[in-house]
Amino acid sequence: MDLESILEDLRQFRDKRDWLKFHTPKNLAISIAIEACELLELFQWTRDLEEEKNVLEKRRSEIADEVADILIYLLFLCDIAGLDLEKAVREKIAKNEERFSAEVSFEKR
Ligand SMILES: [Mg+2]
Repeated sequence: MDLESILEDLRQFRDKRDWLKFHTPKNLAISIAIEACELLELFQWTRDLEEEKNVLEKRRSEIADEVADILIYLLFLCDIAGLDLEKAVREKIAKNEERFSAEVSFEKR
């Protein structure tokens, strides 16, 4: 995934519509949460893993729309915050490697 190229397309989309003025940190953080809730809504009232898998199969395009919305707002937030998303993810993975030993996790299963 070429996040930089995607971000450039998003900037052009945003700037052509003069929407940067709406992209405050709080508005973007709220938008990420709203889109995550829209994703969650697709699974509302499922009762077990079988039904959740059914949602994955039957509502695939809606799920794709919502995960895209989440990433779009996340990229916009990182852009105005001067954060490199790929770097942040790689650093977080390294922190998680230290924090959650695979051996300990395995023993708890
Ligand atoms: Mg949405």
